[in-house]
Amino acid sequence: MNSSGLLETDRWHGKAFHGEWVQGAAKIDVREPATGEKLGEVGESRPDDLPAVVARAQAAQAEWAVQPAERRAALFRRVAQLLEADRGALIDAIVRETGGLRGKAEVELNGTIDEIIHSAAILVQPEGHILPSRDASRLSLARRVPLGIVGVIAPWNFPMLLAMRSVAPAIALGNAVILKPDPQTPIVGGVALARAFEEAGLPAGVFSVVNGGASVGEALVEARGVRMITFTGSTAVGRRVGELAGKHLKRVALELGGKSPFIVLDDADLEAAASAGAWGSFLHQGQICMASGRHIVHRKVVNEYVEILTRKAAALPVGDPYREQVAIGPIINAKQIARVDQIVKDSVAAGAKLATGGTYKGPFYKPTVLHQVRSGMPAYELEIFGPVAPVIVAEDEDDAVRIANDTDYGLSGAVQTGSLERGLRVARRIRSGLVHINDQTINDVAECPFGGMGASGNGSRFGSMNNWDEFTEWQWMTVGGKPTRYPF
Ligand code: NAD
Repeated sequence: MNSSGLLETDRWHGKAFHGEWVQGAAKIDVREPATGEKLGEVGESRPDDLPAVVARAQAAQAEWAVQPAERRAALFRRVAQLLEADRGALIDAIVRETGGLRGKAEVELNGTIDEIIHSAAILVQPEGHILPSRDASRLSLARRVPLGIVGVIAPWNFPMLLAMRSVAPAIALGNAVILKPDPQTPIVGGVALARAFEEAGLPAGVFSVVNGGASVGEALVEARGVRMITFTGSTAVGRRVGELAGKHLKRVALELGGKSPFIVLDDADLEAAASAGAWGSFLHQGQICMASGRHIVHRKVVNEYVEILTRKAAALPVGDPYREQVAIGPIINAKQIARVDQIVKDSVAAGAKLATGGTYKGPFYKPTVLHQVRSGMPAYELEIFGPVAPVIVAEDEDDAVRIANDTDYGLSGAVQTGSLERGLRVARRIRSGLVHINDQTINDVAECPFGGMGASGNGSRFGSMNNWDEFTEWQWMTVGGKPTRYPF
């Protein structure tokens, strides 16, 4: 990958950022999913690198936490400016490394910059309360204090944004952070962040990036001195991370998978609903945790809805988003494309009707609509993480709500209806962390609480004010001018 600016290769090629750039124990090749072309290589970290990375972070954090808030905020503003100044190269890099469209990359970079700006802003918000005191001569207060070191484990689908939404607020609020990006996207998901903080003048050791897969991830979760883990990824790995964090009594924020319901009632504008539904299922090839995983459509309108959705799906051009004008790019890897295809085939074998798609060439899976999907079929039960829209028939409003909640997941949800009253009535009954009336399921902005219920998370919420709760803990402090005397 040739680039001037933050991603200039001389600085990081073959290295990991253990508070400073170090040669890796081995190399991790980073490949473009659309072509297989090698984009670069980073250095792999070893699990036994962690104690030294943690020791360095501990020393740096103690200094960082006592920097005046305005100085920390100024540094964050510089990070935002650096990313903005390198916009063109970063967008190209996100497109090539994640296989996403240019528009997706723009949303990702803009969201990343928003996270930084919001993190600079929370620094100058009140950081505690004055409490009622039982002794008039003493002041009683509650103050928010940083946790210490926060470990961040991020996925490959929106690697920059999903890392930064934890990294930025955690560092802003006085913590040091050790990030482990997914090994498929360590340049935009790790190098770019490290270079931006480094160029902005963040003291060495406050931010580190360790590269690798499960063994390095587990070593980070277990590392002595790491007080919290924020993990974004699959529910299966989230359970493992939660188990290890529990064993070591660490705070853990788990942002996991989803199977989000997209309900279409019989009074909906079907063209608009199908447009939203297509976006919800096919954006970034469906590789989004909030993807519309089940289209739950009122029996009266289901045939017309499937017809429109099928027309839209069949018209979406598929190909290499870096070199062609397409709407659907590649699936991240061969294992995932085989999994998507298996889910579609098994569902068809179980009685679902293939309205369009269901085939692939290389890494490119055609947008697929599956009609008459029912409980028990893989397309009904499993998170697909591919461009597949399963359509399920609902008999009425109550049945739609029942189906929507017929899942262990609870990340997002949406209702399409011509009646605001009906929309509110249905949306209130959906068990999910996010729900949108007359929109689709994919929405994430820095100022709103983001997180899932059920198997989609463990109750953590990211976003602006909520970040105080995630990345600090309370300390009760009392202070008096004179020492208190006791009967002893
Ligand atoms: P994944 O769980 O396979 O990997 C996520 C991260 O965990 C990667 O960095 C990976 O290297 C690391 N990892 C893997 N095994 C580990 C272990 N044993 N210990 C510690 N770390 C380990 O997920 P993925 O395939 O990268 O991402 C897709 C999944 O992520 C989907 O289920 C999707 O819904 C979910 N996701 C959730 C959100 C959200 O905000 N809720 C956002 C994006 C993706």
